[in-house]
Amino acid sequence: MEKATSCRPRPELPLNRPRASRFLRFRITAAYVAFFSLLFAIFSFFVYEMLSRSLEARLHSTLQAQAATAANLFADEMNETGGNEATSIAEAISEMSLNGSSIAVERGERLIGGRLEPRGQWAMARKTVGKVEYTVIASASTAPIAASLAALRNVLVIGFPAIVLLAAAGGFLLSSRALAPVASMARQAAGISGSNLHRRLEIGDAAEELRTLAASFNELLGRLDQSFDVMRRFVSDASHELRTPLSVIQGEAGLALSRERSAADYKESLTVILDESRQLARLVDDLLNLARADAGKVRIEREDLYLNDLVSGCVKGYQTMAASRGMRLEFRDEGDAPYCGDETLLRRMIANLVDNAIRYTGEGESVTVSIEHGPESIAVRVADTGVGIPPEELGHIFERFYRLDKARSRDAGGFGLGLSIVKFIAEAHGGSVTVDSCVGKGSVFTVTLPAVGSRTPAREPSFADD
Ligand code: ADP
Repeated sequence: MEKATSCRPRPELPLNRPRASRFLRFRITAAYVAFFSLLFAIFSFFVYEMLSRSLEARLHSTLQAQAATAANLFADEMNETGGNEATSIAEAISEMSLNGSSIAVERGERLIGGRLEPRGQWAMARKTVGKVEYTVIASASTAPIAASLAALRNVLVIGFPAIVLLAAAGGFLLSSRALAPVASMARQAAGISGSNLHRRLEIGDAAEELRTLAASFNELLGRLDQSFDVMRRFVSDASHELRTPLSVIQGEAGLALSRERSAADYKESLTVILDESRQLARLVDDLLNLARADAGKVRIEREDLYLNDLVSGCVKGYQTMAASRGMRLEFRDEGDAPYCGDETLLRRMIANLVDNAIRYTGEGESVTVSIEHGPESIAVRVADTGVGIPPEELGHIFERFYRLDKARSRDAGGFGLGLSIVKFIAEAHGGSVTVDSCVGKGSVFTVTLPAVGSRTPAREPSFADD
């Protein structure tokens, strides 16, 4: 019967478009327009004020000049006409080119001729003819000035929105152009994922700030790419390593079960399976430790201890293995070496180095472990007279899953993880590990740990102390 499940198209999600005000180019344009409008308003105000004042000042000085000229002409005419005020006023006015202004003459407080502009500006000049003082007033309407200012006001009021609109368009265009590389970077970045981390952002000849941003982003991509590479390699190496013991176990179990066998045959198969599963357990343990170390989850639990006791214990544990291979394993104990570190991790580190030294050293050779105790640091040295390591390989042996001779190393029980664990433990204690080797003559691995915070721990009372 057909199942009732159907593949219905997903309902269209409403596009969650951000508001225009959230876009940088809109914000830049708005700020630019606001600033420009303010500047334009201040500028318009000053232009208007200056024009208004200068027009009034010019009119006033014209009127002053006209009043002075009219007063002189009036006095001359009074002399010529023998004091006829009306004729003198008319003659004086007719001789002047007044250009819209009016002349009036007062004797005392009384207007005796001419015209006075009722609403406008005026200027006056006094003249004494005979014994009588006359005041000559030049006046003009301020309507032309008001008309000019009104025209300017109209230009500014109509021009303002037009100019603001133009500024907004210009600002938007400019900011869009300036931010175009950012949009291009965002588009390119959106197309980068775990599968194409090798790609880089390209922004051509954009502004220096954006080039710096793109360069930083590209550097970040580079680092991510590298980590991804290491991770991928790690996963593929780990699966490869896991496959070998698993297929041996499967093959052996399959073979044992394929037909009826003797108890001795079953025992042999089970021994092989046990060996391989021990290897597998060791590998899984190493992988787990490295994964934890990568995730920063390994806690260093420091305690005060004697490093020479710790090394001595480790070396003792390997004596049987060394003896079975016909080699000499020796620890040169030169007295108390107090140190503050993680006992389990340090034990693991020494064990890995001693284990390697035994595995890569042949019959009749020797492995010597020693401690050099200085005021600043403490160095543990594991020296063997074994096969040695070619110089071109020295830079790689601390890499994960790196083995010189894969077949030989695997037969010797190695996965190429031992030294990376040694390196991690040394570095976790603030120290380092170095190697000195010569093919055919042997190798010396030196772990140098800073002697920080080490106190002499209390020794368990023993008979030797008595
Ligand atoms: P493994 O577990 O395979 O030994 P390690 O990380 O401990 O991996 O070592 C990496 C490689 O370094 C080994 O494959 C081996 O070839 C080389 N190596 C390590 N220690 C020694 C040593 N004492 N003498 C010679 N070669 C060594």
